[in-house]
Amino acid sequence: MKKLVVANWKLNPTTAKDAVKLASSINIKAKNKVVLCPPTIYLSSISYPNVGAQDCFWKTSGAFTGQTSVSQLKDLKIKYCIVGHSERRATGDTDQMINGKIHSLLEAKITPILCVGYGTTVLQDDLEVVDILKHQLDAGLNGVDASKVVVAYEPVWAIGTGKNASPEHAEKISIFIKAKYKVGTVLYGGSVNANNAKDFLRQQNVGGLLVGGASLKAGEFNGIINY
Ligand code: PEP
Repeated sequence: MKKLVVANWKLNPTTAKDAVKLASSINIKAKNKVVLCPPTIYLSSISYPNVGAQDCFWKTSGAFTGQTSVSQLKDLKIKYCIVGHSERRATGDTDQMINGKIHSLLEAKITPILCVGYGTTVLQDDLEVVDILKHQLDAGLNGVDASKVVVAYEPVWAIGTGKNASPEHAEKISIFIKAKYKVGTVLYGGSVNANNAKDFLRQQNVGGLLVGGASLKAGEFNGIINY
């Protein structure tokens, strides 16, 4: 079965020309299903079968300077949207705000990709991690049909550090999230690269990957999406 691989380009690249070039270098017919999430300002320039946003606002219109609504994403035919990334949580996004975004996305029929794992540390065992995740999942998925949400487990210490969690740990956490919250797809994210991707994709309950740094290198990312 195809797994889901999501590219989070974060605040890269620095020009629309480079963004278009990067998107055009990513295989369209990869072995896995691929979603490219460029910065909001490039969303309308990118041509790729599945494009996602990196964040959204929970209100659909009004006096909210600098925000992007789900209606605006819908208008651009955006199919996915990341919410609750640890880099957004670190700058003030609360579980309640994230929950509002998920409700808004589902109403617009855009699939939310809810990131959890903020606040975890490398020294925690599986049970301690589960405790932290429960908080974020209970609040983030409150009142939501969780089967329509993709959850990305991203231990915060693994993001952009070159130190990934073990595939076995990712599998255990995925089993927990699927069983307790009835989430259909759980991704792993955190320092995934072309060398370690297959070890995660081989895990039965890891439904795919959320990839940051390695998604900016077309050759490496094409390797990841074709396992
Ligand atoms: C991310 O930002 O979601 C991420 C997983 O980044 P990286 O792959 O660079 O660790």
